[in-house]
Amino acid sequence: MWRMRLTVIGCAGSFPGPDSPSSCYLLEADGFRLVVDMGHGALGTLQQYAGIADIDAIVLSHLHADHCVDLYALRVARQYAPSGPMPAIPVYGPAGTHERIAKVHGVDDQDGLAERFSFETLVPGRFEIGPFTVEAGHMNHPVETFGLRLSHGGASVAYSADTGESAELVRLASRADVLLAEASFLSTQPGLPPDLHLTARQAAEHASRADARHLVLTHLVPWNDPQRLLEEAAPAFSGTLTLAKTGLAINL
Ligand SMILES: [Zn+2]
Repeated sequence: MWRMRLTVIGCAGSFPGPDSPSSCYLLEADGFRLVVDMGHGALGTLQQYAGIADIDAIVLSHLHADHCVDLYALRVARQYAPSGPMPAIPVYGPAGTHERIAKVHGVDDQDGLAERFSFETLVPGRFEIGPFTVEAGHMNHPVETFGLRLSHGGASVAYSADTGESAELVRLASRADVLLAEASFLSTQPGLPPDLHLTARQAAEHASRADARHLVLTHLVPWNDPQRLLEEAAPAFSGTLTLAKTGLAINL
C-alpha cells in the first residue's frame, strides 16, 4: 500500500508536445488529490486520472502560461457542471494569481474565479494542504517561482518548478524519495542564459547534491532529444534516473 502517489499529467516544457500537455502533476494521499501546476492542455489529460469534481486543491508554482493557464479551464468545468456549480477549492499561487488567471478569461468583470477558487498567496515556508506537508522556497527564474517539497507519511517528492541553478532546490530536495527536476536545456546549446532553466546535467548535479533517491527529468522541451537528456544526466547522478512521461505513476 502506498503512502503517496505521484502521477505525471504533463511534462512538456514551455509549450505542449505531441504526447504531453505542459506542466501538471497529480499527488494523492489519503484519498486527497492535489494538482501541482496546470499548463496548456493539462485539464484534458488530468481527467484520465482524476475527475473534475475530485480535485481537492491546486498549487501553481509560478504564473508563466505553461504552468497556469488551464486553471481557467477548470473554473469553467466546475462552474457549469450539469449537477450545478461545484464548491470552491483552494488555489495556492504567487501574489497576483487571481488577476493573472482573470486575464486568461479576458473580461474585466465577473471572471467568476472567486466563486470557484479560494486564492491563497504562497510565501516561502512550511504549511499543510490536506494530508500533505508542503515546503515552498523561491527558485531562480525571471518571475516569482516556488519550488516545493511535498511530504506525507515519511514519503517526499520535491519539485523544481522552473529554475536556474539553485541552492534552495538542493535544500528542498534533501534526501527526497523523488526529485522532479526541470531539464529544459542541453549543455551543448550555445549561449544558455543564467537564472532561467537547468540543463539535464545541472538537474542531475542538484539531485546528487541533495542525495535524492530518484530523479525524474521533466519540463522536457519538445525539440530536445530525450535520449540526449538522459545521457547528459546519467554520469552526474548515481540514483534512479527516469524521464517524465504522461501517465508515469510513482507509488511511495
Ligand atoms: Zn517559467
